[in-house]
Amino acid sequence: MEIKSAEFVMSNSDVAKCPKNPLPEYAFIGRSNVGKSSLINMLTNRKSLAKTSGRPGKTQLINHFLINANWYLVDLPGYGYARVSKSSKKTFQKFITDYFRQREQLVSAFVLVDIRHEPQSIDLEFMAWMGENGIPFSIIFTKADKLKPKAIEKHIADYTAIMLQTWEEMPNYFVTSSSKHIGKDHLLNYIQQINDQ
Ligand code: GDP
Repeated sequence: MEIKSAEFVMSNSDVAKCPKNPLPEYAFIGRSNVGKSSLINMLTNRKSLAKTSGRPGKTQLINHFLINANWYLVDLPGYGYARVSKSSKKTFQKFITDYFRQREQLVSAFVLVDIRHEPQSIDLEFMAWMGENGIPFSIIFTKADKLKPKAIEKHIADYTAIMLQTWEEMPNYFVTSSSKHIGKDHLLNYIQQINDQ
């Protein structure tokens, strides 16, 4: 898919106020600093459509972007930033869980994890919650430029082994690098394929 247009539509913290338009949407979520803004900017060919932030955890809103006038890319707040309290780290803000439970337009989510890190309990718990609530998602391993191809393979094998302790199969996943423009076409073509169905 070629991104011909990408425009910011609105930010809010209330799923009831999200666009009424029935266009399909895809949500991006992950721990703060995982590279979500950089990934969104890579996907949309923009330098700063999503705000990359020196202070993780700053963007605490549901952000809708209209892509090619026919689907929404939704940038959700980063979770699990070390500076927030333990309780708020564990409890996802209600508006995020409301978004996932109530947003009928949501086709699939993308859960971003940094390819360098061992599986983190906050990510595993979040994915378990998505599974329990029947919300489709793929994993995106970010910052792949930080590892050599062999190390990427090993990391994914290790991650898969841990996922298979609780999941029947490894969820669909992508490997990306915003710095090296890796994984962009693969991800956009995946979205296109679903939209074309
Ligand atoms: P967000 O908080 O998840 O939106 O993360 P950002 O996109 O703001 O990125 C957090 C930090 O990771 C920044 O310093 C980015 O430059 C860096 N970063 C993001 N994506 C990549 C990547 O693909 N490769 C590398 N090496 N660094 C990245």
